[in-house]
Formats: sequence, C-alpha cells, structure tokens
Amino acid sequence: MGRTHAFRWHGLAVIKIGSAVLAPEGAADAAAFARLAEGVAAARGMGWGVVLVSSGAVACGFRALGLDRPPKTIARKQAAAAIGQPALMGLWSAALGAHRCAAAQVLLTADDLDARARFLNARRTLGELLGAGLVPVVNENDSVSFDEIKLGDNDRLSALVAGLVSAQLLLVLSSVDGVYEHGDARRVIARLGSAREAAAHVRPDKTATGVGGMGTKLEAASIASAWGIATVIARGTRAGVIPAVLRGEPVGTRVEPAARPRRARERWLMASARARGVVTIDDGARRAITERGASLLPAGVVGVSGDFARGAVVQVADAAGAAVARGVSAYSADELRRIKGLRAAQLPGALGHAAYCDEAIHRDDMALQAAARGS
Ligand code: GLU
Repeated sequence: MGRTHAFRWHGLAVIKIGSAVLAPEGAADAAAFARLAEGVAAARGMGWGVVLVSSGAVACGFRALGLDRPPKTIARKQAAAAIGQPALMGLWSAALGAHRCAAAQVLLTADDLDARARFLNARRTLGELLGAGLVPVVNENDSVSFDEIKLGDNDRLSALVAGLVSAQLLLVLSSVDGVYEHGDARRVIARLGSAREAAAHVRPDKTATGVGGMGTKLEAASIASAWGIATVIARGTRAGVIPAVLRGEPVGTRVEPAARPRRARERWLMASARARGVVTIDDGARRAITERGASLLPAGVVGVSGDFARGAVVQVADAAGAAVARGVSAYSADELRRIKGLRAAQLPGALGHAAYCDEAIHRDDMALQAAARGS
C-alpha cells in the first residue's frame, strides 16, 4: 500500500447541488459555482471532508446541440450530458481551484451501487480521493445510463453516496428554503424526526431545470436516515449556507437520522438500486417478518414476478402491493413459482432435487422497508 493519507477529516459531508442552483435559467451560472466553492473551502477549513454531488451536465450541454431549451428525449439528454459533463467539471475545477482545492470526477450508474463488489470499489475510490485531500464531484453517468439502469435523480444518488462514504451529513441544496409548513413559503420547518413527518406538508414543486421535487429530496433524506445520517435541505443561493449548516445554525430543514441505523448488509440491500423481481407474501408471512423477525418461508409466498436467478435481490411485497422488505432470494424465480405455498417437506418433490434450504429469503439476507420497521 502507498503512504498514509495526508487528510484525516473530522467529519464527512455529502453536498448535493441541483441544476436549479447551478444553472437557474438553464445556463451555468459561474457566480453560483464560485459562491459554493467558497463554502466548500470554508467547510474544509472547519475539518470537514466534502463530496459534491453535482447536477448540471444536461444544463451545461444542451445549447451545443443547437437546442434552446433542455431536451426531452433520452438520446438527446444523453448527448447533452456527454457535452455538458466536461464543461461542468471545468467549472468546478476553476471554482474550487481558486481555493486551492482540486476536484475529481466520479461518474456512477445504478449498476455500480447494485453489485456489492462495485459498491465497495466505488467506496474505496472515494475514500482514496478524500484521503488525498481532493473534492470528489459525483454525477450520474448520464451519457450511458439514461435507460432502465438509470438511478433517476441526483437526490437519490446523493443519499446513496452519503451511505457509501459513511457521511455524517447530507446537505441537499435546492431552490427552496427547506420543507415549508403546509406549503406556506413563509414558514420553514426547522426539524423533522423522520422524512415521513413531512408528508402532510409537501406538494409537487418541481422547478423548470430541476429534476426532482421535494418528494425526491425527502426520499433521499429517508434513505440517509436509515443509514444513520442526518439530512439538511436548504436554499443553495443563500449566502454562506454551507458553513452555516455545518456550524449547526438553524438553516433549512433538518431531517434526523433514524434511532436504529441499519447494519452494513441491510444498508447494501436498501442501497441496491434495482430489485430483480417481486415476491408477494401472505399476511401471516408479513406479520412473521415484521413482528417476529422471522425468515420468509416458501409457504408464505403467494406470487412471484420477474425473472431472477438464485442470489438476486428482490422486493418483498404484501398482498396489497406495499413494500415490506428487500432480500436475497435463495431460489430462482422459476423455483420459487414451483415451491410457493409449500411446506419444507414438500420442497424436494416440487423441485425434483433436494432443497437448498428451508427459507426462501433468510432473515440475515433481508432488510425491512422503513415503513415496516417503524422508523
Ligand atoms: N445528472 C443530471 C445532470 O447532471 C441531473 C439529474 C438530477 O439533477 O437529478 O444533468
């Protein structure tokens, strides 16, 4: 191994900056980059390592395609991102460089977070960059991932990155001050015990250039919370917003981390971007899983959708379709269809060979959905 890392940060913050902050009129605003880079430098001066999750690739690129507004078709978005991503990095490098911080580009797809080995690899890369004192600037690898492997929005990506690097804080900078009380822009909710508490206050609020609304920000907060990470949602154009939040000043809306953060394997299961299928269970199985911490047995399975192999991550849903858990299936989709509803003694007959195990999804390979786990 190489030399020991020069930088040991007191804390790690993942700061997600939306297109609406960086490119408010659909064109990159160099002053916004400069202001935010100053905030990043201030954070580092306070002992915080910073990972940026920056949107804006499409916004920085579409004009070079001869378009006068952001494209709608997937192919054009991909092309715009391919043009805009290096421009976006150029802006960050210049803005951070003015504070003697070096930027490093990390482009991720949902697949990178899906496979355990790649997840760990991405974690190592980010750790290496932070240890060397750089500012990783993460974005979704849009030019190759605007299809079924797409994560969707950078709010979710930022929460997964926060989990990946075990950050203490996820700061989501957007074009609003935070979560407004019953949608009233004069009253920002300072603190929420969980993202679910916000549900009553939120209505769709997408901006013209932003991708996600408050809903996706709260989803990000909910993912971060399950990992034991606090989220602050604040206005990105506010002067000095980054150091103010890190000093603990009451800026924006803070969503508290869950009291019982998840274990490492559960975190990976929840972070896994794509479930390969859905296993529907009966009510007895749902109660056994959520109330008694039991494994899922084939007897409790009532339906299987999708085509997956043994060892795939699947979604477990109740009869009404509500998500109960995610887990690693011990059987393939075809096998599960053959053994659903059966008792252990009946499995070899239905399979035509000995059963691999009694459980369809072992408890140790399962993570309950936040709603089912009461946090
Ligand atoms: N990755 C997209 C971009 O850089 C933005 C996605 C988002 O903002 O959620 O243009």
